[in-house]
Amino acid sequence: MSYIDEIIDQVVAQNPDEPLFHQAVREVLDTIRVVVDANEAQFRKDAVLERLVNPERQVKFRVPWVDDQGNAHVNTGYRVQFNSAIGPYKGGLRLDKSVTLGMLKFLGFEQVFKNALTTLPMGGGKGGSDFDPKGKSDREIMAFCQSFMTELFRHIGADTDVPAGDLGTGGREIGYMFGQYKRLKNVYEGVLTGKGLSFGGSLARTEATGYGLLYFTKEMLACNNIDIAGKTCAVSGSGNVAIYAIQKATQMGAKVLTCSDRTGWIYDEEGVDYTILKEIKEVKRTSLAEYVNYRPNAKYTAKAAGDNMDHGVWTVKVDIALPCGRENTIDLDDAKNLVANGVIAVAEGANMPTNLEATKYFQENGVLFAPGKASNAGGVATSGLEMSQNSERLSWSFEEVDAKLQSIMISIFHAADDAAKKYGMEGNYVAGANIAGFEKVLNAMNAQGIV
Ligand code: NDP
Repeated sequence: MSYIDEIIDQVVAQNPDEPLFHQAVREVLDTIRVVVDANEAQFRKDAVLERLVNPERQVKFRVPWVDDQGNAHVNTGYRVQFNSAIGPYKGGLRLDKSVTLGMLKFLGFEQVFKNALTTLPMGGGKGGSDFDPKGKSDREIMAFCQSFMTELFRHIGADTDVPAGDLGTGGREIGYMFGQYKRLKNVYEGVLTGKGLSFGGSLARTEATGYGLLYFTKEMLACNNIDIAGKTCAVSGSGNVAIYAIQKATQMGAKVLTCSDRTGWIYDEEGVDYTILKEIKEVKRTSLAEYVNYRPNAKYTAKAAGDNMDHGVWTVKVDIALPCGRENTIDLDDAKNLVANGVIAVAEGANMPTNLEATKYFQENGVLFAPGKASNAGGVATSGLEMSQNSERLSWSFEEVDAKLQSIMISIFHAADDAAKKYGMEGNYVAGANIAGFEKVLNAMNAQGIV
């Protein structure tokens, strides 16, 4: 059995009931076979893959908090510190009732390669809790965030581990967590990113993942002689990534026909208006069903309760699909629908929104496919720029950050493209991104000895 297959079996056996983590490991290792097979004896000797798939540290803790009625609740908090070969651990905090250790290991593992691709000195990590922020009052959110940080603070620091936002953790939550960290440590340092602008946040961080996705997509299309202007797009999700992806796509001359949330999805033939989405999701924090009150010609279709998929969105005929909601929301049937409707490109704004079968189907059918760890790296790249500004105790202008973001996204595309070409897999950006990220991390790990 090959070294890679042995490791995949080992990961499954040693991490039972963590299918998302298995999926992420399988996806990465399958695409770096060409590098591992060529160096198998040395890699086995150095246990390279064992060290790569085992987090350096994972912390699990109790998070007690009291609701507005005076009832106590206990959630579980986690921080997975996956790999610090190229810098302090860096990755978001997810607050969602579906959060498990396995989910955070999948996200942390992906983060290691994503961060390596940004060219910035950041290791990989991820954390969060099964706390559900939906429907909670501001006071309850603050109570949870303070309790969460009361344990987390001892494991993080500006030069150790710098968490950021993720699903369910936006500016409000980061603010409460930062306040509690500062109070406990009596240190004012850039320990979290995604902070408010008045206390160390970076301009353009809010927009960065969505904008970065489009900078990457535009470059990928341009290198394949396709102009993004005039193209139609389907977007899933209507949160931070989706809203700014829709804004930038529209600015680039494309038309976005759809978006979605947990309750349903919107089809707007005139092009989704991101200012309305901002009002519904950032200000009112309510369901997308509201959208048709602003745009009566748009159509809202409700989903069955508990439906995690975005099937409806992927039945619409478009040139470009931008899944920006959450993981595993494009399956093989969705991929077949998109291909039958002539989709040219799929670029992931969310983490792993396309399952492995669907990804393969796109690639076999000549669709340009941008994996999230490359195409959505703009968020973490700008977090890296926030860390630089905090260290310098300076704030850069929006234009300066945005220009750096653009150049990072273009260089990520070319790193993936070049690695794919180097190993005879031209156009396979999944393999290219994984190989480029792996080579960088491996280099640093080798230089630092067996640690
Ligand atoms: P948000 O919480 O802002 O938005 C998530 C969106 O997905 C919301 O519209 C939400 O609907 C929708 N959604 C969540 N669960 C479901 C579900 N079960 N079915 C259908 N829709 C669902 O998160 P972000 O936009 O920040 O993140 C989106 C994705 O992008 C995640 O995978 C995240 O890990 C990834 N990502 C985010 C980065 C960032 O900088 N924000 C950076 C890199 C990756 P509702 O409005 O109803 O809650």
